[in-house]
Amino acid sequence: MYVELVEDYENIFLNFNQTLRVQKAMIKTINNDGMYAPVIICDICGKAIDNASLAAVIDCERPNVGEMTEVRHVHKGKCHDLADARWSELPWAEMDVHLLNLINNVGSSLEKLQEVREARNKVGIENWGKI
Ligand SMILES: [Zn+2]
Repeated sequence: MYVELVEDYENIFLNFNQTLRVQKAMIKTINNDGMYAPVIICDICGKAIDNASLAAVIDCERPNVGEMTEVRHVHKGKCHDLADARWSELPWAEMDVHLLNLINNVGSSLEKLQEVREARNKVGIENWGKI
């Protein structure tokens, strides 16, 4: 058990260092048996985040008023701890709060998304895009 944890930690740390060098987009699309599904990838371990309640979003810097910054998406726990060790001075938010704000800021709403869900359910495509 301990060896597995150490190996897992080493793999995460390796991914963490690679992520720091590459800084690539972390919202991706995965081919899920012929269906394409959007996923948010953890910037530390490189795995998909599949539970927003167990994830966080970290700003890459503190931008001035009117300026923007990139963000990092991380699993809470080990991944967030590694990110916090590197960027502890930077603000972070709960993934759920970040996604709610994102929905509003792209001009959508939870009500609109519910309408889309219901329309998809009516034609039997409610699971398209899910992993
Ligand atoms: Zn992770």
